Amino acid sequence: MINLILLGLPGAGKGTASERIVDKYHLTHISTGDMFREAMANKTKVGLEAKSYIDKGNLVPDEVTAKLVEERLSQPDIKEGYILDGFPRTTVQAELLEGITKRLKKPLTNVIALEVDEETLIKRLSARYMCKNCGATYNKISKQPKVEGTCDRCGGHEFYQREDDKPEVVKNRLEVNEKMNAPLKDFYQKKGLLTVINGKQTPEKVFEDIDAVLSNNQ
Ligand code: AMP
Repeated sequence: MINLILLGLPGAGKGTASERIVDKYHLTHISTGDMFREAMANKTKVGLEAKSYIDKGNLVPDEVTAKLVEERLSQPDIKEGYILDGFPRTTVQAELLEGITKRLKKPLTNVIALEVDEETLIKRLSARYMCKNCGATYNKISKQPKVEGTCDRCGGHEFYQREDDKPEVVKNRLEVNEKMNAPLKDFYQKKGLLTVINGKQTPEKVFEDIDAVLSNNQ
C-alpha cells in the first residue's frame, strides 16, 4: 500500500508527477486545488467560501480544507492508496491530517518533496494554462497539446489561464506557500517519511527518482 504526500511549491511539477504515479501505481489523486476549482465552478457552498481566498493567492481556512480532505479520503474508491497534492500546506494541516489518517486507518507511507528554485517556478506558472472543460494542465514552453488547440485528455477546445497564475497574484502565492514549506519538510523529516527530489529535472527523470522511492515500498 502506498499513501503518499507530494510536497512542492506551486509550479514544482506535482500535477505532472501525480499523473505518472497514478498510471503506474493506480493511486487515487487528491488535489485540494482541483477540488476547490471544481467547487467554485459548481458554485457550491465550499466553492463560494473558498473563492475570495483563492483569487488573492491566500490559503483557504484550515477547517474548510481539512473537512474537504477527510470527506474525500472516506470515499470507497481509494483502494490501492492515495496521493495528496496541495495538502497539507502547513504544519497545522499536517497535524489535522494525522487525526484524519488515524480515524480512517489510512496511514501515510511516504512524503516526497519536489524542489525547484523560485525563478523557475515563476517562469513555469506564467506559461501555464488549463483546459476549461477537464482542468488538464499545459505549458506554453514545455507541454503543448499534441494537436494544437485540442486538449489531449478530453478533446476540449477552450483553454484559460488560472486567475491565481497571473503575475500579480503569483508572487504573493509563492510567498505564502514558501513560508509554510520548510517547517512542513522538517515535520516529515523527523518522522522519517521524507525524500527530497530535484524538480528541475525533466519530467521523465523526476518520475524515475520518485519511482525508485515508491518501488521500495511494495
Ligand atoms: P493549488 O492548485 O494547489 O495551487 O491550489 C490553488 C489554491 O487553492 C491555493 O492558492 C489556495 O488558495 C487553495 N488551496 C489549495 N490547497 C489548499 C490547502 N491545503 N490549504 C489552504 N488552501 C488551499
